[in-house]
Amino acid sequence: MSQLTDIMSEKCPKCGVGHVFSKKGNPLLFQIPKMNEHCSECGHKFEREPGYFFGSMYVSYALTIAEMVGVFIISRFVFGLSYVNIVIAIGIISFLLGAFNFRLSRMLWIYMFDGRHKQA
Ligand SMILES: [Zn+2]
Repeated sequence: MSQLTDIMSEKCPKCGVGHVFSKKGNPLLFQIPKMNEHCSECGHKFEREPGYFFGSMYVSYALTIAEMVGVFIISRFVFGLSYVNIVIAIGIISFLLGAFNFRLSRMLWIYMFDGRHKQA
């Protein structure tokens, strides 16, 4: 439960105090999230090796597909939108959730392979 809270609040996987991201990013202002290189509290290096976050793209892909399916089901069966409007709704929601997916996928990746219970 505590790890889930730390993932959602984007805390360091080792100490649970420092923040992983210095900027959250805002898709409406075309700002992407910015990660800290090291934890401000314990000095843990978040990107362990070059290309470490390559795999988080697969996590982001899975998150995006899940959101698209959710938007499709709600648009079609709750609001009864046409398929063209559903595609537009999915595009808008995917764009708006882009920064959130970026951060959450990296947090999930960090905690899967670099969490507190893992030994370095
Ligand atoms: Zn830390």
